[in-house]
This record gives sequence, structure tokens and C-alpha cells, in this order.
Amino acid sequence: MKRILITGGAGFIGSHLCKQLLKEGNEVLCVDNYFTGSKENILELLDNPYFELIRRDVTEPFYAEVDEIYNLACPASPVHYQYNPIKTIKTSVMGAINMLGLAKRVKAKILQASTSEVYGDPAVHPQPESYWGNVNPIGTRSCYDEGKRCAETLFMDYHTQNGVAIKIARIFNTYGPHMNINDGRVVSNFIVQALQGEPLTIFGDGSQTRSFQYVDDLISGLTCLMSTNAEVTGPVNLGNPQECTMLQLAETIIDLTGSSSQVVFHPLPLDDPQQRRPDISIARELLQDWEPQIDLKQGLSHTIAYFEKQLSSK
Ligand code: NAD
Ligand code: UDP
Ligand code: UDP
Repeated sequence: MKRILITGGAGFIGSHLCKQLLKEGNEVLCVDNYFTGSKENILELLDNPYFELIRRDVTEPFYAEVDEIYNLACPASPVHYQYNPIKTIKTSVMGAINMLGLAKRVKAKILQASTSEVYGDPAVHPQPESYWGNVNPIGTRSCYDEGKRCAETLFMDYHTQNGVAIKIARIFNTYGPHMNINDGRVVSNFIVQALQGEPLTIFGDGSQTRSFQYVDDLISGLTCLMSTNAEVTGPVNLGNPQECTMLQLAETIIDLTGSSSQVVFHPLPLDDPQQRRPDISIARELLQDWEPQIDLKQGLSHTIAYFEKQLSSK
């Protein structure tokens, strides 16, 4: 039995990871400050004696004896990470330093939840890990993008300077149950709007693209990456290459929900990337048998069912 620390464990992705790692027979310590996460996401785990919930902020030092660390703490939705940009970059940078300090002290393996945002508004398409990105260092998204880029640098430097065993996952847009109703990202916004018969808010003309990955595919990618041998540090892209425009996404969600909602157009936020699709050749090669299994319509159907339940219980 391994003892595994998950920071941001009460969030959308973190809660699925806690559940999976408990299921695999591990002891899980979940650290969260509940900024965007909630106890509701992990309610079903609270009775498990091998699950421990700790209210902490990763910008503060944290001491525990663990074998592995998944560092997920950081708001991920533009609405939430731009709410207090200084706190966001502190969370990424100071959180990384503290968790790397912890990993170094106890010789734990540590995985960083990095992001496709390190590629910014990409001039190379699809994005391979070798692409250095096109990021505005002083824009509204910079607190997140540059915080995550700096965290990657810290991970690499703790690895080369201190021999810390690291894994860097560059996660592309992921969606699924346990996204917050008020998360603000496009999939949850569109689903909630469609289910409530409200217009779906398309930012810009809706021609920008994203490639959406269902959360179960990400969780298997993350655990596979953690279990790779010491030579594998990453960065490794984890995403589903199935790309669509926001207009197509809106139409698909209206169709799947059977909603009578229309779409409305709002101004495009600053620095909003025009296109995004992962090149997952490295993940395919290194993570044996890993491949996204759940296509967009299937994943959206599961997610719609989740939000229907959430809305009816509110
Ligand atoms: P989320 O907002 O649901 O989860 C983040 C969790 O971190 C929340 O529970 C929040 O309360 C917690 N948190 C935030 N600041 C903290 C702090 N200072 N101390 C302790 N806990 C803190 O978002 P998510 O989608 O589950 O994202 C999880 C991780 O994956 C993030 O690091 C995010 O950057 C990364 N990621 C997510 C996506 C995606 O599409 N979902 C894509 C790329 C990267
Ligand atoms: N740290 C932590 N938990 C630990 C070990 C370290 O939170 O178990 C923090 C520590 O407070 C420090 C950071 O991690 O601020 C980086 O630690 P490191 O040992 O790399 O640096 P130093 O302590 O020498 O500044
Ligand atoms: N978006 C949109 N309507 C919304 C929320 C987002 O059209 O209600 C757009 C947003 O401008 C972006 C895309 O959807 O082009 C994905 O946005 P999200 O915030 O989900 O993720 P990110 O921009 O970080 O990839």
C-alpha cells in the first residue's frame, strides 16, 4: 500500500484521482483549501479509513511522509484564476516549491499537473511537447500560463539539481462530472445553459477550437505516467486529439440535451487561444496502451446526466 498525497484533491480532476487511487488499494491524503473545490466532490470517500482530508493552502509549507505526490492545486477556469491573479501565480510557484521540497525530503515521486496553456496561443498545430509556445507574459491569462511554466522549470531544476523523481503532465481541456456548476469553463457553461433553456454564450464568433478529453481518460493517463520508470520525466501531453470549434460544441450539446436554447455571441476574452489540439505521440509511446477511449458525444452524455442530477437537487 502506497501513501499518496493529492493537492487540489477536492477539485474536479483531484476528486476522480482520489477515488481511483483508493480503489487501487492506496492510502490517500487529500490537501485542499476549497477555493474552487468542495467537500461534495469527495463526500463518498469520507467514510474510507484510508482517505484523509486536510484543509491546507499549498503556498504554506506542508509536512507529511508520503511515497507519491500529485500536485493539482490551482484554479483552472479562467474566471476563477483571474479572480485573484497574484494568488494564482503564488499557488503555482510557491505550491510547486513546497511540494518539491517535500518530495526531496521524503524521496517521493512527484507529478505536476501542467497544462496546454504553456503553449499559449499556439503558432504550431497540433502542439508537440517540443514546441516552446506563444505566451503573453503580461496579459490576463499570464498568472496561470506563466505560473504553470515556472512550475515546470522548478520541477526540471529540482530533478537535475536535487535528483527528485518528477513527472510533468501537460493536460489539455478536460471535462466531466464534478465540474462546478459555476466553474465558468465552456463545457459546464454550455451544458448548464442548455439544461436551463438559456442561450449558450459563445465568446467571439465560435470558430476557435479546443480538443476535449473526458476525465476518465485523463485519470488513466496520469496514473500510467506516475508508474513509468525514472527516466521518464515528461513533459507529456495528455489529451484527446478530437478537435472541434466552440460553435460545433454548442450545437452538439443542444442536440444531446434536446434543448430549445439558441446561441448568443459575446466578445472574445483577451488572449483567447485560437486553436488547440494535442500531439499525443509521446504519450502513446511511453504510456503502454494509453489512448483516449471516450469520444466527445459519449463523454458529454455522462456529463449532461451529472448536471441534470445536480440541477434537480438544487
Ligand atoms: P479545479 O479548480 O476543480 O481544482 C483545483 C483544486 O485546487 C480545487 O479543489 C481548489 O480548491 C484547489 N486549490 C486551489 N488553490 C489552492 C491552494 N492555494 N492550496 C490548496 N488547494 C488549492 O480544477 P481542475 O480542472 O480539477 O484542475 C486541477 C489541476 O489540473 C489544476 O492544476 C489545473 O491547472 C490542471 N489542469 C486542468 C485542466 C482541465 O481542463 N480541467 C487542463 C489543464 C490543466
Ligand atoms: N518544504 C515543505 N515540506 C517539507 C520540506 C520542505 O513544505 O517536507 C518546503 C520548505 O518550507 C521550503 C520549500 O519546501 O520552503 C523548498 O524546500 P527546499 O528544501 O528545496 O529548500 P530550502 O528549505 O532549502 O529553502
Ligand atoms: N467559451 C465560450 N463560452 C463560454 C466559456 C468559454 O465560448 O461560456 C470559449 C472560450 O472563449 C474559449 C473556449 O470556449 O475559446 C474554451 O474556454 P475554457 O474557459 O473552457 O478553456 P480555455 O480557454 O482555458 O481552454
